[in-house]
Amino acid sequence: MVSRFSLNELLALNGQSDLSENVYFSDFQFDSRNIVQGENSIFFCFESNREKAIAYINQAYERNVRIFVTSFEYSLPNSIFIRVEKPIQLLQKFAKFHLNKFHSIKKIGITGSNGKTIVKEWIYSALKDDYRIVRSPKSYNSQIGLPISVLETNNTHQMGIFECGISKPNEMLNLEDILQPEIGILTMIGDAHQENFKDEKELISEKIILFKNSKIIIYNSDNKLVKQEIESRYKTKKLISFGKNSDAEIQLISCVNKKLEVKIHSEIVIFDVKYQDEASVNNYLTVIALLSELNLSMDKIRSKISNLEAVEMRLEIKQGIYNSVLLNDTFNADLQSLKIALEKLQNQNNAKKMVFITDIYENTKDKEYLYTEVFNLLNKYNLHSVICIGSSILSYSHLSKNKIEEYFSTEDAIKGFDVKNIENSAVLFKGSRKFQLEKLVKLFEKQSHDTILEVDLQSIVHNLKVFKSQLDETTKVMVMVKANSYGTGSYEISEVLQHHKVDYLGVAYADEGAKLREQGIFLPIMVMNPEQNSYETIIEYNLEPEIYSFRVLELFLKKLREKTITKAYPIHLKIDTGMHRLGFSENEVERLVHQLKNDSNVFVKSIFTHLASTDENDQVFTKYQLNAFDKAYQTITKELNYFPIKHALNSHGIINFSDYQYDMVRLGIGIYGFVSDDRIQQKLENVVTLKTKISQIKSILEKESVGYNRRFIADKQIKIATLPIGYADGISRKLGNGRFSVLIKGKKAETVGSVCMDMMMVNVSEIECEEGDEVIVYNEKNSIKEVADLCETIPYEILTSISSRVKRIFLKES
Ligand SMILES: *Cc1c(COP(=O)(O)O)cnc(C)c1O
Repeated sequence: MVSRFSLNELLALNGQSDLSENVYFSDFQFDSRNIVQGENSIFFCFESNREKAIAYINQAYERNVRIFVTSFEYSLPNSIFIRVEKPIQLLQKFAKFHLNKFHSIKKIGITGSNGKTIVKEWIYSALKDDYRIVRSPKSYNSQIGLPISVLETNNTHQMGIFECGISKPNEMLNLEDILQPEIGILTMIGDAHQENFKDEKELISEKIILFKNSKIIIYNSDNKLVKQEIESRYKTKKLISFGKNSDAEIQLISCVNKKLEVKIHSEIVIFDVKYQDEASVNNYLTVIALLSELNLSMDKIRSKISNLEAVEMRLEIKQGIYNSVLLNDTFNADLQSLKIALEKLQNQNNAKKMVFITDIYENTKDKEYLYTEVFNLLNKYNLHSVICIGSSILSYSHLSKNKIEEYFSTEDAIKGFDVKNIENSAVLFKGSRKFQLEKLVKLFEKQSHDTILEVDLQSIVHNLKVFKSQLDETTKVMVMVKANSYGTGSYEISEVLQHHKVDYLGVAYADEGAKLREQGIFLPIMVMNPEQNSYETIIEYNLEPEIYSFRVLELFLKKLREKTITKAYPIHLKIDTGMHRLGFSENEVERLVHQLKNDSNVFVKSIFTHLASTDENDQVFTKYQLNAFDKAYQTITKELNYFPIKHALNSHGIINFSDYQYDMVRLGIGIYGFVSDDRIQQKLENVVTLKTKISQIKSILEKESVGYNRRFIADKQIKIATLPIGYADGISRKLGNGRFSVLIKGKKAETVGSVCMDMMMVNVSEIECEEGDEVIVYNEKNSIKEVADLCETIPYEILTSISSRVKRIFLKES
């Protein structure tokens, strides 16, 4: 049964009386862009800016939503509008009310800084044959995420596993109130994302509010603060601790050679495990603690632990052959994640969309219900075709309204599917792990080298938030996506930024902007270097030029006249206040404004300047520049009689001179994860990971040499690995001869000899590795910042020199 929600019940919670005829809904919507068929939905509008909110409501209305919760008075034909002060609070109240209908469900609440999602997924996979479980999809754990997760609960569920995450003090109480878990789990507390908390103690103390009404608490007692806070506040509860310390109930003895040795109630138990890094060991112990609390036999626990697999939470987006885009989400398949993956597919620009889907494993006896839901979901989308793989899903494929192709196994599909069909499509691969759909994905992938640059789009979004938190809410943000978004990849970054509603994009050249337009980017785009022969392109693609001299102004005006464009064209005025690169100098401003006043063919969309030393924090010079800019802006606007957007700050300007954010800022390097300020750097997430694979491993004897000019001579026998990446890929020759190390199996391997054009050699004498193993060249641990120091340059240069022949792969949270 589709869980249907009653509008009268919702109204009652809001203190309103019943409708004469009750209305039911089954879906909750928050993002109007993601709505496909809104018929049975209720739309909660969280946007506080009225103008934006109305745009979202209208979009939802066009998509057939007829029930709305808003914070202001509004109405549309044949619709119900519920007005509340805070829509989010009504959602939370409703979630609590809903969950309370299911008294017998065992509720588990997970919080902590790291590992919440993995622990949740591991518990789920360990218990899914014993209980019918509802759980948070992905890492939905916020003030909105938890209510959405909880609202998935229905009367078939016996257990609910929910993540609770907070980013500020005073948030946990809300989540606790909704969930009230019987069993509380605290995963690792790290120092990541602590920005809004005074210290670790405050963070812990806030997180464990989740356990206020719990009977049982599972936690790592190696962390002294955790131990102290939990044991003092929750003396009367059943406390199950784990860790290395000898007081722990579940005591870690050792973890070597994939054997995890644990002392449980004075008995030593050995578990076979697949992973033995510290984080995984902690997660294993957490799951062991829970399973033994649920009275599973030790044999059963051992078998379940040995089967736990890495949790892949990100959906990979890759370029496919025949100009296709592949969305690889082949790590799990359940209804919830299918829903989210389909939304991601919908957001792709390709008109033609296809889905490969396998049998779905959910613990339900009612397969008919399951597959009815699967096809209900798929039917909402207008797909070119759905390729079903597996005998279970085939029995229900008649439910599809989309065109169907059928295969019993992935092998059959590999043989039978006509690859040409994916031409120009966006293709989603959604399957249970068992089906190994990734084999198909491999086949469809554009032929690639072993060297790839992974770009984490979630981290871009995170970093955007970090910078926004430094700004006033009304300050607009232009993100610089010039030079292929600092080398990371132009369209994908811009698409994410557009989705997250930045105000402007900035490119260096017109053709960069044109390409973005062709791929469907509709945000306003400023072109900083509008070359004379690119004015056609600028106008054709609705780009906005930076005007930095009278020459450029006159030429551009001439072009507008030539094209008989009469509506005032948007331009941006660059004032040179001391950078001495491009721009009108201060003494040209008067003449400039005079000219502009007499020409109605253009209007000044913005006026800006660029600061020369914001990261050096050169207060005196920067203030001098800002002062000159203020004056120029005043002179211009006094005459113009309108107020163009005023902007000056780049990334480091935002950090060091936020008082001068004016109407807009121009964010660049910071969003890609690099700043010189340590405090902000800590808050940023790593965006790029450069990876390759070992091509060959060989032994080098004493006195033998490696590489050109025999720059390396072995003084003892060593083992080297040859990597298929060289200076043509962007690895500076300055990094050769031991000055830099890559990471293989988490260990450092120093360069040996000089870096060649397409290859380099590293020392792997101390590392157990094989040909084909993954090699990390840059990531958060092997930071581009350090590499920049080694090369006597800045991260900008390292990042933008990663060659375009290195394939980019984009990661999104799936
Ligand atoms: C590149 C650029 C920026 C962004 O600078 P970051 O240091 O990367 O933040 C801002 N404004 C202009 C004019 C630029 O050229």
